[in-house]
Amino acid sequence: APYQVVDVHELLDATLVMLRAKAAGVQVVREYDRSLPAIPAYAAELNQVWSNLIDNALGAMGGEGGVLTVRTGRLEDRLFVEIDDTGPGIPDEIRPRIFEPFFTTKPVGEGTGLGLDISYRIVVNKHHGDVRVTSRPGETVFRVLLPISPEAP
Ligand code: ADP
Ligand code: MG
Repeated sequence: APYQVVDVHELLDATLVMLRAKAAGVQVVREYDRSLPAIPAYAAELNQVWSNLIDNALGAMGGEGGVLTVRTGRLEDRLFVEIDDTGPGIPDEIRPRIFEPFFTTKPVGEGTGLGLDISYRIVVNKHHGDVRVTSRPGETVFRVLLPISPEAP
C-alpha cells in the first residue's frame, strides 16, 4: 500500500461515514486540532486502525446510545488520535489480553479478536507509533500516537 502524506482528520471522517449505520443513536463528537500537519503514513492501513477502534467503541456502547468522541492533538513530535466511548469499560481481568490475536469477548461470529492485534501492528511496527488504553466503568479511551516526521520506511 502506498506511503503518502495524509491528513488524519480526512481519514477519520471517511471512517465515520463508513460506520454511520452502526453509529445510529450515538452522539459523535469531533474534537479535532486542525492545526496538526499532514503526516507521511500508509493511508489504507491507518483507515483499518480507525475502523477497528471505532467499531469496538460503537460495539461497546451496544446500540443503547452513548457518546463517541474522536479527538486529535499534538504531543511534542507526535500527534495523537483518541477514540473515546461511554461504554462499560474493559474489565481489569481481560485488560492484559485485549491485544492478543483471537482474543475476543464477543459471541462466536461477531468478533474475530484480530482488530486490536492488527491495529497494534500497523501503528507500532509500520508507523513506529504507539497505542495506549485507559478504561474505567463508563469510559474507554484508545490513544494512538504517530510520529509527525517519521523516517521513510
Ligand atoms: P473483537 O472486536 O473482534 O472482539 P478486538 O481485537 O477488536 O476483537 O478487541 C478485543 C476485545 O477487547 C473485545 O472483544 C473487547 O472485549 C475488548 N474491547 C476492545 N475495545 C473495547 C472498548 N472500546 N470497550 C470495551 N471493551 C473493548
Ligand atoms: Mg474489534
